[in-house]
Amino acid sequence: MIEQISTEESVSKTMLKGLTLKELKDFFTAAEEKRFRGDQVFEWIYGHMAASFDEMSTIPNYLRKKLNLYCELNTLSLVTSQQSQRTGTKKYIFKTHDDLAVEAVIIPDPKRTTLCISTQVGCPLDCQFCATGLMGYKRNLSSAEIIDQFLMVSRDYGKNKISNIVYMGMGEPLLNYANTLKTLQIFAEEKTKDISLRRITVSTAGIAPKIVELADSGLKVKLALSLHSMFEETRNKIMPINKKYSLAENLEAVRYYAKQTDTRITFEYVMLKDINDRTDDLNALIRLCKSIPCKINVIPFNSISHMSPTGYAHELQPSQKFRVDEFVKTLRENDIVVMVRYTQGDDIAAACGQLAYKLDHNEAE
Ligand code: SF4
Repeated sequence: MIEQISTEESVSKTMLKGLTLKELKDFFTAAEEKRFRGDQVFEWIYGHMAASFDEMSTIPNYLRKKLNLYCELNTLSLVTSQQSQRTGTKKYIFKTHDDLAVEAVIIPDPKRTTLCISTQVGCPLDCQFCATGLMGYKRNLSSAEIIDQFLMVSRDYGKNKISNIVYMGMGEPLLNYANTLKTLQIFAEEKTKDISLRRITVSTAGIAPKIVELADSGLKVKLALSLHSMFEETRNKIMPINKKYSLAENLEAVRYYAKQTDTRITFEYVMLKDINDRTDDLNALIRLCKSIPCKINVIPFNSISHMSPTGYAHELQPSQKFRVDEFVKTLRENDIVVMVRYTQGDDIAAACGQLAYKLDHNEAE
C-alpha cells in the first residue's frame, strides 16, 4: 500500500521512501512518467541516501518540481543522539510526524558495526524484562519510518559503516509484518547490496504463523527467537505472548524456518536468577540445541529500574555472574555455539531491553 501523508497545507502527498522498487516503478507508470524513473529514484534514496528531491540530479527539473509538490521523502527527524563513553554505543532518538519517539542504536564491535532498529512505537507484548514492553504500545511504524532509521543513522555515522542490521529495537517486527517485509525487500535489491540479507536479523518474541510466512517469503534473513525459557509455564510468566503462541508452536516454526532458509537460528536467552538459570533449564536448552542448527545469545539481564517496574517485572533479578559463566561453559562443553552479549550502552539506557523513550513537550515541538 502506498502511504499518503497529510501536510500542513492539507495537501495529501505520497511518501516515496519505504516503497519497494516495484512499487516505485508502478508509481511512476501510474503518473504517466517513464518507468525507469522508479529505478533512478530508488537509487537516489538508498544508494546515494539523498535527503531531498533537489539532490536527484539525474531526474529532470520539471519532474523534481512535481515530486516536491506531490511527494514526500522525509519522515523522521532527529531529536537527539547520545554516545556511551565506555563502549561507543550510540543511541538515536527520532520523532515521527505525530510526535512519537523512535529509537535506534549503533553497536560498534571490533568485527562489525550493528544497527538495531525499531518497528513499532512501544510494544504490545509486555515481556516482563523489557522497558519497551512496560511503556505500552502506540502504533506500528510505516515502512518509511523503519527504513529511515537506517538512512538517517547512515548519514550521521558514516555511509557504509553499518555492516549488520538487527530488527530488535522497540516493538515486535512480526506484528508489523507487512511493513517489516517491505523494508527487507528493499534491502534485498541489487541497488542496496551494501547490506546483504545474510547480515540482517529479524528478532521475534515468537509469532509462530508469521515465522512460517517469513520462511516462505524467499528472503533469507537470519531469525532470532527470544526464547528465555524452555518451559511453557515460565515463558507464560515472563512473556505473556506465549499464552497465544506456545513455545511448542514456535519451536516447530523455527525448525521450519531453519530448513526453508538454510540458516542457523539464534536463540536469545536473558539470564534471570532462579527463573531460567537452573540445571533443568540448562539441560532442556542443551537438548533443544542438539536438535536444530542454532547458536545461543546469552544476555545478562539489564536493569530496567529507570522504568519503575511493578508486579512480576519488579521481582526479576539478574543471574549471578558465576552462574552465567557456568551456564555458558556447560553449553560450550556440549559443542553449542554461545555468544555472551555483555552489556553495551547501559549507561545511556541503550542496552538490550532498555529502549523506552518519551518525548517531553519541548522536544515534541
Ligand atoms: S522484548 Fe521485544 S517483544 Fe518483548 S516487550 Fe520488549 S520489544 Fe516487545
